[in-house]
Amino acid sequence: MNIKMILPALTEAKSPFWRPIKYSLFPPLGLATLAAYCDEDDNISLQDEHVEELNIHDAPDLVVIQVYITNAFRTYKLADHYKQKGSYVCLGGLHVTSLPEEAMPHADSIFLGPGEECWPRFLKDFKTGKTQKIYSSTERTIENIPPVRRDLIKRHLYLVPNSIVVSRGCPYHCDFCYKDAFFEGGKNFYTQRVDAALAEIDRLPGKHLYFLDDHLLGNQKFASALFDGMKGMNRVFQGASTIDAILRGDLIEKAAVAGMRSVFVGFETLNNNNLSQSNKKQNIGKDYNEAIKRLHSIGIMINGSFVFGLDDDDKYVFNRTVDWAVQNALTTCTFHILTPYPGTRLFKTMEQQGRILHRNWDLYDTRHVVYKTSALSEKELKDGYDKAYKSFYSWSNIFRASTQHDNLKHMIKHFTYAGGWKKFEPLWNFLIKTGSLNKMLPLLEAVLSKIKKKETADKALSPFPAIA
Ligand code: SF4
Repeated sequence: MNIKMILPALTEAKSPFWRPIKYSLFPPLGLATLAAYCDEDDNISLQDEHVEELNIHDAPDLVVIQVYITNAFRTYKLADHYKQKGSYVCLGGLHVTSLPEEAMPHADSIFLGPGEECWPRFLKDFKTGKTQKIYSSTERTIENIPPVRRDLIKRHLYLVPNSIVVSRGCPYHCDFCYKDAFFEGGKNFYTQRVDAALAEIDRLPGKHLYFLDDHLLGNQKFASALFDGMKGMNRVFQGASTIDAILRGDLIEKAAVAGMRSVFVGFETLNNNNLSQSNKKQNIGKDYNEAIKRLHSIGIMINGSFVFGLDDDDKYVFNRTVDWAVQNALTTCTFHILTPYPGTRLFKTMEQQGRILHRNWDLYDTRHVVYKTSALSEKELKDGYDKAYKSFYSWSNIFRASTQHDNLKHMIKHFTYAGGWKKFEPLWNFLIKTGSLNKMLPLLEAVLSKIKKKETADKALSPFPAIA
């Protein structure tokens, strides 16, 4: 059987503000995971429109498309195209799960929630010609999933081909997050077996890994065993964690010993009322500065995530946040304009309050204001957001943030990482165009190398007191 799996480009990928490097980081792991359930003799083509031109002149038996909110309209066009050609079209992903009625007319079958159980069920039905219109995820486990079909991934097109996911979901319930909608009706946080995760890591070539899990430290027992197992594997890795997990026990030190060199942290806001309104309970009352100090002391760089436009935000929020991030030496920041994604509690609340401005999903990209703001005007929010990015990534602020570290190597790493990420666009574009992006991996690995200093994570974990 001929199967085509497509990750359509987000609409923004066609916009003049699009940063090609941002979408050339990670391969479409979700689709490669589903491909693993297909028969060995199936002929599978996996295409990622962010990094390659789509060939739409073929006529596969089965077309599978992964749908996010900002690629939804593009997806529907592709789906209609392939349906007309007689292919059987399957749509799944976050947006389909949130708005099944919208996706349904464009598909032969739609998939709600994670695919590990319902996708193989569909494949069986497809063989017998008895497919259903809707496949909902019922059982939730990734304990015995087959190895991801990484052979289908065009590794050279990505900066970080070794992305990996060893869990699904997250134990928390933030109002603006897709997570609850996607996992509704079943378990919403579960992990692989530790031995299977370690085997998957072992299969990956090179040194660098990027864990795309929503919360790598979310299950302490699992994460602890994973990090123990990774000791001595000579890996450097990046991943995501919440503040409370960083502050709890010694898990983060174990992560550092296993090779963690940078972490994505959802600070979201410096205002407690905003945290309460967003149900971001895990951040409330937590000492952000203490968490940052701890991460820096064990040589872990920080990518902080912030949301602007929460109801308690005023016009000073942008400067306040940037200043705080610079003073606290965050290496990179991801700023977002609050975006009420359909299916989330935030969307429901705003809809009830009549605050949703439109349903043009193309603009639900966290760069546009799509709801009626509260303390800030729409313009103040948009301008402030743009200014925050510009200011945080100015050379002077990159330098100022770098020099907050008390270790020269950390300063250099910080400066190189932040500057390299935001200030060399033409170089990134050249590497992408020439298909040589992957050649930058050794440089990334060098920047993520270990900082040797007196107070290393190994020492922090030592049961013996240091002898001066
Ligand atoms: S902690 Fe992150 S992944 Fe988990 S619910 Fe909140 S925003 Fe979503």
